[in-house]
Amino acid sequence: METTKVIEFERPQMDIGSSCVANAWARVPDVPDAAEKLALKARIRQLLKEKQAVLVAHYYVDAELQDLAEETGGCVSDSLEMARFGRDHPAQTLVVAGVKFMGETAKILSPEKTILMPDLDATCSLDLGCPADEFTAFCDAHPDRTVVVYANTSAAVKARADWMVTSSIGLDIVAHLHAQGKKILWAPDKHLGSYIQQKTGADMLLWQGSCLVHDEFKGIELDLLKAEHPHAKVLVHPESPAAVVAQADVVGSTSQMIHAAQTMDAEEFIVATDNGILHKMQLAAPGKRFIVAPTAGNSATCKSCAHCPWMAMNGLRNLLHVLESGDNEIHVERATAEKAKLCIDRMLDFAAAKKANVRPSADLAKEGKLFAGIGPA
Ligand code: SF4
Repeated sequence: METTKVIEFERPQMDIGSSCVANAWARVPDVPDAAEKLALKARIRQLLKEKQAVLVAHYYVDAELQDLAEETGGCVSDSLEMARFGRDHPAQTLVVAGVKFMGETAKILSPEKTILMPDLDATCSLDLGCPADEFTAFCDAHPDRTVVVYANTSAAVKARADWMVTSSIGLDIVAHLHAQGKKILWAPDKHLGSYIQQKTGADMLLWQGSCLVHDEFKGIELDLLKAEHPHAKVLVHPESPAAVVAQADVVGSTSQMIHAAQTMDAEEFIVATDNGILHKMQLAAPGKRFIVAPTAGNSATCKSCAHCPWMAMNGLRNLLHVLESGDNEIHVERATAEKAKLCIDRMLDFAAAKKANVRPSADLAKEGKLFAGIGPA
């Protein structure tokens, strides 16, 4: 039986600062009234068509943007599917409603396309908490480790990595690397890294970043809420603290959580992720009841209260503005993009192999395709 390795916790930890979060909330646009909404949406539909552009949105953005994306032939999804969809769609302009690393990933995968975002300052606490120079020094100090980074990182951090993963495939990829005898350097989310480490038994050094939203879910208060709803199933994103993950009926990415809500035999769910997901959950499972997991409690400081301020910066007005003006284009320096693409392609190849039911550990490794040019064994 696999023995679980002790995780060393003296790893870098970056403080993103509360002023940064307050600034993000200050930038969240006002909600337009009903008449303005109608006018904005009509004009956005028209411009998407005229400019042959497609809207790619994350589950955490405003429900109006999610609906517009679907209705106009775009997509609403998690970051893995957003990356795939943008790469494979024939449109020459992608409008990415999400946060900056998602726009950068789209640009890296499709350098010939124009990538626009409603607000270029929409970022992520994980990305902010993992600056490329400190991260590079950390990697250089551990040259015997394969570097695996979460999607929520800058292009420069990805350029230093061997693999990129998303929450929907991170566990599989680390299990695969562990089976190959590799030791892992993981960044930036400490909770997701710890969850994967415990599940796989892999030897992992963890960067100490966290998601502002998920870090605030509280284990004790969740326990109390469960007692009030004894039949509710608990769906948890693995960026949440271990005390919350431990109480989950399902731990998974946003897509996996929506699938669970749709297919599980329960009428009520407690959901530990950004509350933007409830829109899609409710559409996928009409008639079921969803309750946001608690972020309050004795130890709470609640800066986000289950909603990401950077995701909330995406609105109808700034979406229309970028379509009209062409402002807020994403650029990634070419050499950085080329390096970063290697680790993203490895993940996408792995995901495609998994979907096709190819056994990655045998077939792909034999081809040498996934491991060409990557770090230590
Ligand atoms: S919800 Fe968390 S992980 Fe997602 S963009 Fe916001 S801060 Fe980053």
